[in-house]
Amino acid sequence: MTSSFPASTVLGYPRIGPDRELKRALESYWEGRSSRADLEETARRLREDTWRRLAALGLEGLPSNTFSYYDQVLDTAVLLGAVPGRYRHDDDLATYFAMARGAEGIAPLRMTKWFDTNYHYIVPEIGPDTVFSLDAAKPLAEVREARALGLETRPVLVGPVTFLLLSQATPDSPDGFAPLDRLDDVVEVYARLLAELAAEGVGWVQLDEPALVADRTAADPAAVEAAYGRLGRLENRPSLLVASYFGDLGDALPVLAGTPVEAVGLDLVRGTAHGVDALAGKTVVAGVVSGRDVWRADRDRALATLRAVRERAGRVVVSTSCSLLHVPYDVERETGLDPALRRRLAFAEQKVAEVVELAALLAATPGRHLPEHFAAQERPHTSRVRTAEGRAPYAVRAAAQAEHLKLPLLPVTTIGSFPQTGELRRARAALAAGEIGEAAYESMVRAEIEQVIALQERLGLDVLVHGEPERNDMVQYFAEHLDGFAVTRHGWVQSYGSRCTRPPILHGDVRRPEPITVRWARYAQSLTSKPVKGMLTGPVTIVAWSFVRDDLPLREVVFQVADAVREEVGDLEEAGIRVIQVDEPALRELVPLRRAEQAAYLEWAVAAYRWATSGASENTQIHTHLCYSDADEILAAIDALDADVTSIESARSRGRLLGAVGAFPRGLGPGVYDIHSPRVPGADEVERLLTEALRTVPTERLWVNPDCGLKTRSYEQVEAALANVVEAAARLRERY
Ligand code: GLN
Ligand code: ZN
Repeated sequence: MTSSFPASTVLGYPRIGPDRELKRALESYWEGRSSRADLEETARRLREDTWRRLAALGLEGLPSNTFSYYDQVLDTAVLLGAVPGRYRHDDDLATYFAMARGAEGIAPLRMTKWFDTNYHYIVPEIGPDTVFSLDAAKPLAEVREARALGLETRPVLVGPVTFLLLSQATPDSPDGFAPLDRLDDVVEVYARLLAELAAEGVGWVQLDEPALVADRTAADPAAVEAAYGRLGRLENRPSLLVASYFGDLGDALPVLAGTPVEAVGLDLVRGTAHGVDALAGKTVVAGVVSGRDVWRADRDRALATLRAVRERAGRVVVSTSCSLLHVPYDVERETGLDPALRRRLAFAEQKVAEVVELAALLAATPGRHLPEHFAAQERPHTSRVRTAEGRAPYAVRAAAQAEHLKLPLLPVTTIGSFPQTGELRRARAALAAGEIGEAAYESMVRAEIEQVIALQERLGLDVLVHGEPERNDMVQYFAEHLDGFAVTRHGWVQSYGSRCTRPPILHGDVRRPEPITVRWARYAQSLTSKPVKGMLTGPVTIVAWSFVRDDLPLREVVFQVADAVREEVGDLEEAGIRVIQVDEPALRELVPLRRAEQAAYLEWAVAAYRWATSGASENTQIHTHLCYSDADEILAAIDALDADVTSIESARSRGRLLGAVGAFPRGLGPGVYDIHSPRVPGADEVERLLTEALRTVPTERLWVNPDCGLKTRSYEQVEAALANVVEAAARLRERY
């Protein structure tokens, strides 16, 4: 229990593989194309490569148990035995994937965003009767696996307080029950786990408590005290690092300082060293290299922070601000980037090297009384933020649109994308590699649009889409067509399970050199007399899902993008597009974790959306779409977007959502088809969901649509599901 913490570490590392090896292995396993042994071997190799690479880069404190087949919160639920009975299966991996992805007739657990990142975790279900039991197999196996390579590691686990704060109550829990009520029971399981890890000879364990940087409930400090008081006082345990990240610990810092844990991790990029004196006598794992952006660290600034912390607290360890899960692997592979830009960038590998270098520099300058500058850089004052005059009142718009669009009651539409076939993806790769020409690619895209329009006509949808076949991704596509962005070739970051995105890098002033989506929308509209919905990504989402320059205030960057979207809306209208959807699924994601900062953010985010859309005439129907928006928290802001129709993910959080947004005074489409699961909903099920929605949403305002875009599903699933959706809407129309 007394070994000192290594001088340099990272709180976690990407696990999907530099070439998305894990994604491929998972998908092939799920599709029955490969065995469990194949999957396990890929996973083992990825872990081995990661540990060896980190060690080769000179990192001293290697983390383990940061690998996951799907999600670390789900792993923690399994570790604690918190597996709802309906998922239990003889095969442990089948149980695991059933929770994550659903199984024959059983919906998966809810999934939601991990704090303000674009990573999604599986929400555990905890009830008053959940029986906890320890299943330490995974962390133990990883420790042994690394040891077989000659490497000692520090198992990383989601801490008990964060685990319970992120869980939801089982549906049959009594009113007033909160998962955190089970803290004592859960802490006992952690205690047993720590004993097992100690018996294994593990020196340090990292317990992640990012929930402590967000404002939660008044009960939290007491929970921190109870959990870490109890775990800290255990006789037989490894040393404990409690890692906070994504912001400042605030009031939780002195509480944690008062517990007998040996080390505390602080995010010194987003947070400050305020109050760090309280940690004197403990090890401070100082997160000075950002795990959330792709910029090289400011070495002098980081070093000054490290020295100041060292002067005020006890021992200092150099670390990343959070897990590197949120950045790509290696910028050296991005040979297509402008070298001047590339020199400014650091991905996971480069960040590890920075941590190692900073640790060496810190060790080489043991002096005290060094200058201390924690002050945030002064930022230029914003000039671009604009207020839109606003469109005509909704009643006026609704009447004009009814006249123009002549839609039936309960109009059926989709969220935009149709399945992306392997053929399309290969064609895009071939185009990028110069193997096929622009013309050949474009004719493929046109053929795909023809098919998608024909399919929707055949199925009987009311507002059609072109299917987004030309888009690799809803953000990257726009980034590729706007000045000020760069895109990477290998810069994949895990979003959920096997899904990854390649966030573009927004490094300069944003401008739209020419129309982006207009010709595809115009072509799709030329094929049908039904309205085709133009499909754009909103300014907040484009910025949220990119790595963003840090020399301008975020809102100013968002308004630059809003300018470009506004121009595109105007051009779509001019091309005869009568319905335009501006997706803003990331609106919730950027909400600051601290309440005091939230109102200001929501105000400018809404203003940017309205600036982007308010140039549209009253005849043009503006749609917006949000997913995983925990709508109740930002209800007023979604309302303030003033979109004529709002479609929103709801399959996994239905009751709560309808209660919250049912009263929206405009069109509303709560999703009736969970596109995150391969399951096809029956017409009866959809009819039941719609009937339920009609209890809160007036008939003339209810829209019928899936939860989200269809691009990850197969045509077989989509055709069957949409046929059922159309059928359910038809049945209901007969009744109203
Ligand atoms: N229009 C996008 C699509 O259908 C929306 C995706 C999203 O909300 N994440 O793919
Ligand atoms: Zn969505």
